[in-house]
Amino acid sequence: MDVRAQLVMVFNLDKCIGCHACSISCKNIWTDRKGAEYMWWNNVETKPGVGYPKKWEDQKVFKGGWVADGKNLRLRAMGKGGTLLSMFFQPNMPKLEDYYEPFDFDYGNLYGAKEGNDQPVAEVFSQISGEKMAEIKGGPNWDDDLSGSPLYAAEDINLDDRKIIEEYDTMFMQYLPRICNHCLNPACVASCPSRAIYKRGEDGVVLVDQNVCKGWRFCTSACPYKKVYFNWNSGKAEKCIFCFPRTETGQCNACAHSCVGRIRYVGVLLYDAEQVEQALLKPDDQLVEAHRAVILDPRDESIRDAARKNGVSEQWLEAAEKSPVYALVKEFGLALPLHPEFRTMPMAYYIPSLSPVLSTLGDTHELAEHGTFPALEKLRAPIGYLASLLAGGNREVVASVLAKLIALRGYMRGRNLNEPADEAILKGAGLDEAAAGRLYRLFTIGGHDERNIIPPQQREEQDPHTRKGASGFGILKKTGRGR
Ligand code: SF4
Ligand code: SF4
Repeated sequence: MDVRAQLVMVFNLDKCIGCHACSISCKNIWTDRKGAEYMWWNNVETKPGVGYPKKWEDQKVFKGGWVADGKNLRLRAMGKGGTLLSMFFQPNMPKLEDYYEPFDFDYGNLYGAKEGNDQPVAEVFSQISGEKMAEIKGGPNWDDDLSGSPLYAAEDINLDDRKIIEEYDTMFMQYLPRICNHCLNPACVASCPSRAIYKRGEDGVVLVDQNVCKGWRFCTSACPYKKVYFNWNSGKAEKCIFCFPRTETGQCNACAHSCVGRIRYVGVLLYDAEQVEQALLKPDDQLVEAHRAVILDPRDESIRDAARKNGVSEQWLEAAEKSPVYALVKEFGLALPLHPEFRTMPMAYYIPSLSPVLSTLGDTHELAEHGTFPALEKLRAPIGYLASLLAGGNREVVASVLAKLIALRGYMRGRNLNEPADEAILKGAGLDEAAAGRLYRLFTIGGHDERNIIPPQQREEQDPHTRKGASGFGILKKTGRGR
């Protein structure tokens, strides 16, 4: 057993309101500079839709990620020979038009225009060439909130039921926030000929060494989530850094901190690195189970000992034990990996959306056995769609998660209305009262410090004497300032 620790983010899709506060806070801190204008390390897509860059999920086009080839995994686009052949040309890489040409407005003209008969306007110009643009043809959220439009929904590869987009009353919509998944088997790292991308040992964050990167862009092609970007000004690759300067001091990521819907959870998972490869050789529909098997119980003493031998500190073990992420991914099995069939073993997980809770229009409000909410198969977000997005096509996995969420809502609703508590509702979905209490806190009233449990990494933060001190980060921690 090779026990390692990983920082992980979970997103509760039911609670995302598509406000983009996360994207803006990330942009302001990390990519508000030359060459990075078109980059959104955190972006929020409307689903069904084509996303950013357009159609990134379609590996027939982009050839990212890994494929299981008998007893081995291989990068979909490249073997060794393939690497040499494509050294100077990346045929599968998204082009600028697949993202969008970044633009701004010439606001100075509103003040400085010469006197004339017409109202001055702020003309649009390209942030790359500096030239005026006759027309804006795309933006980072060009199809924002437009999943009702067949134009975009029809292009979503997860939506195989065309009837849904033909019949307005069956259409549904949800948001999908995305960051780099800091994968356990990162295709970006494996594809880099310069070894500039690496997964660091202490927390599993995947980073690009800017001094080593030669700008080959294999990483951009190989990442199936298209979360490595090329800075046209510096000629280097760039990507989400999981806000490591913040997490190292025990603060959560800027996107999670600013999240208006409070949909994000950040915490530690312990996993067995020796099991990763074998797990990823499983068929698509067994990959969620394989993911869960790789994650280890942080309360098990033998696992804690193995972790200590690998240098995992007591603070990290304590954080792993309290981890909201462990509860949501493994203990209660509610959070699922995004496109596990890309076989990078992503370390960002998603609780699938029940919303809208309403069933399809025109039906007779067919309710679940115990109650208030619609029966599973009557939910507007079709199980097949969610299974394609989050479970390698396994509908049973998604149905089991949704059944738990419905049971939890039904039970807590009863309790909050002072009706007799019916634990049978929970038992039917594999939960109990203690689980309901914990999940209810996490989903609703749990505060920042329950949703984000991040062990500090800097020595002055880890040392209990310094933490009690009257200066520096000790003060910030005590007062909660700086969070
Ligand atoms: S999401 Fe892409 S860029 Fe991020 S670690 Fe995984 S393969 Fe690499
Ligand atoms: S800030 Fe939170 S609620 Fe708003 S779009 Fe981002 S993830 Fe969704």
